Amino acid sequence: MSYHSWLECVRGCGRRYSIYDVIYRCEDCGGLLDVTHDVDALREHTAAEWVTLFEARTHSHAWFHGSGVWAKKEWVCPEIAAENVVSMAEGNTHLFPAFRLGREIGVPELWVKLCGNSHTGSFKDLGMTVLVSVVKQMLADGKPIRAVACASTGDTSAALAAYAAAAGIPAVILLPKGKISTAQLAQPIANGALVLALDADFDGCMRIVQQLTHDPTIYLANSMNSLRIEGQKTVGIEIVQQLGWEVPDWVIIPAGNLGNVSALGKGLLLLRDLGIIQKLPRIACAQAAHANPLYRSFQTGFTQYTPIQAQKTLASAIQIGDPVSYERAVKTLRAFDGVVEQATEDELANAAARADRTGLYTCPHTGVALAALEKLVTRGEIKASDRVVVISTAHGLKFTDFKVGYHDHEARGALEGVEARYANPPLVLPAEYEAVSAAIDRTLAKKG
Ligand SMILES: *Cc1c(COP(=O)(O)O)cnc(C)c1O
Ligand SMILES: [Zn+2]
Repeated sequence: MSYHSWLECVRGCGRRYSIYDVIYRCEDCGGLLDVTHDVDALREHTAAEWVTLFEARTHSHAWFHGSGVWAKKEWVCPEIAAENVVSMAEGNTHLFPAFRLGREIGVPELWVKLCGNSHTGSFKDLGMTVLVSVVKQMLADGKPIRAVACASTGDTSAALAAYAAAAGIPAVILLPKGKISTAQLAQPIANGALVLALDADFDGCMRIVQQLTHDPTIYLANSMNSLRIEGQKTVGIEIVQQLGWEVPDWVIIPAGNLGNVSALGKGLLLLRDLGIIQKLPRIACAQAAHANPLYRSFQTGFTQYTPIQAQKTLASAIQIGDPVSYERAVKTLRAFDGVVEQATEDELANAAARADRTGLYTCPHTGVALAALEKLVTRGEIKASDRVVVISTAHGLKFTDFKVGYHDHEARGALEGVEARYANPPLVLPAEYEAVSAAIDRTLAKKG
């Protein structure tokens, strides 16, 4: 069976390009380009046949089928030579049964999809494996690409640097200076990328990288490039697979540049178009109140949209005021009867800390999603009987300053705008048995 995909203009002008063309916008009308698949060819397999195939590949040791992305190669990137796939077994991340937290919040069947349990610690690996593989194929086909470049709020650059290094392709990274975590800065440096720290915010870095990539020998790796969406769309498919091919009632996702929510929707729609699921979940997008252009637009029923100047937020990976994939996200939210909620610094930090006390280790963006969940449950929009999945976008270990700042605020000074209601600072004691034993007794008596 042969499957085929191509780039097609999202504005419906019908213009098509090869996925191996160096192009990000339609030459005729300037619209973004989406990867489009020959769905009729995919329909030649029944729903049951696809399910059987994907189940057989899950956690397989055969080259690249153990990856959650490449296990679905026919749906993601069908025409690429196996030797050009650059994979680090991304995907197949744990769907954490957060039932203890769920009971506290009032939605007993709560799951958290731990996308941060991945090679570079965020969901960005899902998209980057596809993009870098396509670049490797282009190079094998003789395309004159000198480097792959991106602007980043920290996680895209970590993923690009790692996959490019594994493939032996130079990476150029534009970062907003002082606005990403120490771990996120260390990652691309360690992987040998050219790291350019600019006195700008993410939106400023994005403008410059778009100019740089007018040069066709520098390939753009931001999510405007829809190859990344193809890898990221497997997250929704995996969630359904992990729930025994059943659809949850709600999926909650933190959103910045709005590529990921579009990808989530795209994967779920493909599942439906191929007859594997019959209904769709509702989607809730969660934004930081300090970077909320989509939330504001939602308040107007998406009739108005104004880019904003994003303010500093602990959820630094979504500190974006002018999201590239706004149009895609609105389309997705309309198709999924979606809502948009926001979280203040205080709400996101406390929601993250509360979740950690039930065994999770959440990044601040996951805190935004969990805070949004709490609000939607309180408002009655999400019901106690609903099956809810929260997408956790990065690993908490990338955000040590956030964790330590929250818990040890007496030693370090409070996080701005946060009253740490679940702070659990270490007790400093003399090295004496009596003092230690007394402290343990005191603490256990308080909790008991
Ligand atoms: C990139 C990122 C997001 C936002 O995804 P978008 O596609 O930009 O909306 C959320 N959380 C984390 C940790 C990220 O790295
Ligand atoms: Zn067009």
